[in-house]
Amino acid sequence: MTTNRTFTMIKPDAVESGNIGNIIQAITDAGFKIVAMKYTKLSTQEAKDFYAVHAERPFYLELVDYMTSGPIVAAILEKENAVADFRKLIGSTDPAEAEEGTIRKLYAESKAKNAVHGSDSDENARIEGDFHFQPDHCFA
Ligand code: GDP
Repeated sequence: MTTNRTFTMIKPDAVESGNIGNIIQAITDAGFKIVAMKYTKLSTQEAKDFYAVHAERPFYLELVDYMTSGPIVAAILEKENAVADFRKLIGSTDPAEAEEGTIRKLYAESKAKNAVHGSDSDENARIEGDFHFQPDHCFA
């Protein structure tokens, strides 16, 4: 089922470099409505659980270390075709390969420290949104 929602995190590198405001501006300028948002810090267990699908990948523990290295902003966003349009807005995983004007091209440090997360499917958008937010913290 298409929900027209996606889930994002502004990752520790982008928070540290002072780009929360720029990234939220880019997201709302692109037509996404904020349904839920919080400033938080993941525990090691939360980061391991969130990225469990990557548990077998060689960079898993590095990813968990990075995602727990500082605070993040988590948000649920709404827009028609949200998942695909948001992936387009953020650009390729590696900023060196991302299109000009994308959030990762503008603000990411590297393939590992790449400024933002964006869900890769409607199902994952729902799972990831539910991971961070109760329904009564969502305002459609
Ligand atoms: P995404 O869907 O574009 O975020 O990319 P992936 O699902 O492939 O990877 C998830 C996250 O793992 C990425 O956003 C990066 O933060 C991180 N990552 C991906 N590839 C690497 C890598 O080669 N090394 C490290 N340290 N982290 C990586």
